[in-house]
Amino acid sequence: MIAPGATIGIIGGGQLGRMLALAAAPLGFKVHVFDPHASPCAADVAASFTRAAFDDVVALERFASACDVVTYEFENLPVGPLANIADKLRPGTASLAIAQDRCAEKSFVEEAGGRPASWRKVDGPADIAAAVEALGLPLVLKTRRDGYDGKGQAWLRSADDVERVWQELGGRPLVAEKAIDFEAEFSVVLARGEDGALAFFESTRNIHEDGILRRSELPAGALIEAQVAEARRQAGAIAERLCHIGVLTVEFFACADGPLVNEIAPRVHNSGHWTIEGAATSQFAQHIRAITGLPLGSTALRATRVTMDNLIGDEIDRWPELAADLDAALHLYGKGAARPGRKMGHVTRLG
Ligand code: ATP
Ligand code: MG
Repeated sequence: MIAPGATIGIIGGGQLGRMLALAAAPLGFKVHVFDPHASPCAADVAASFTRAAFDDVVALERFASACDVVTYEFENLPVGPLANIADKLRPGTASLAIAQDRCAEKSFVEEAGGRPASWRKVDGPADIAAAVEALGLPLVLKTRRDGYDGKGQAWLRSADDVERVWQELGGRPLVAEKAIDFEAEFSVVLARGEDGALAFFESTRNIHEDGILRRSELPAGALIEAQVAEARRQAGAIAERLCHIGVLTVEFFACADGPLVNEIAPRVHNSGHWTIEGAATSQFAQHIRAITGLPLGSTALRATRVTMDNLIGDEIDRWPELAADLDAALHLYGKGAARPGRKMGHVTRLG
């Protein structure tokens, strides 16, 4: 067990790192952020900050030697440079390596007994044509690596557009996925402790717009509620097979014939932000507990109705009105420029 007073290293300095740091403080931990940017928003609430590239092996080793345990809040990190700090890293590099390659991820999900949407590996336009043959149209094409918030994705609606879509996505390795006619989306946010204990948060209904999470809400509705047990079985099996320590999120499509895995995030997740106010232990506190070897906290609900709305781009300009709303728990990430599509904050309401 890593006792309070120790220092937790967080690789990645975005809003997830910021909320992890804020959750580490009440447990008496200090946080050291590692990020290549000049002033990442997590560094504003951390005791120490190392500014270095994610593949700077020397800086990573120096950083790790100043920390008692190291975690990450961002999955598109190069895995190779982490080899020398692997003994301090929780979760380990297996979770990272699997989650950052959509093909490796889908194969892994299948091996773990999970059910992803039908997919094909794509290394060129001929593979796209073969995927159209096998899966039908429309198809969604996603870059195998580096996608987030719906970036690096394109829909293929006509076989005439194969070449255009291949170019549009930069001629990079892709995965082709069957278009899923889902009824709803939800995720399983779980924590796995060092001893293998699993704790599951309630599953919200997740509403996306243009590939980006707009809102999470509870109750999630009868269809999702009926599928949560099976989804937890799949997500738990994935966590176990990864020997994952910490919070892990698995996104699901709720379909008429049961849940389909969309993707894995080896970390705290936007669809779990509501737990800060809505659960006895937040996903952030739970992650800190898991990686330090503390007992996992209670995931009990504090309210029966919860909504979490993201503040995306210039929606952040509504902050004065939201700050005056007595029913709104306002979270601003301190990120600076409100570029379109950028997650700037969120608002949670319990009712
Ligand atoms: P994030 O980082 O926000 O989770 P991402 O860039 O990794 O997003 P995905 O989760 O793969 O992207 O897709 C984003 C959204 O696009 C999904 O939540 C869903 O609404 C839609 N989508 C993705 N794949 C499919 C599919 N095969 N069929 C139908 N809709 C899809
Ligand atoms: Mg997603």
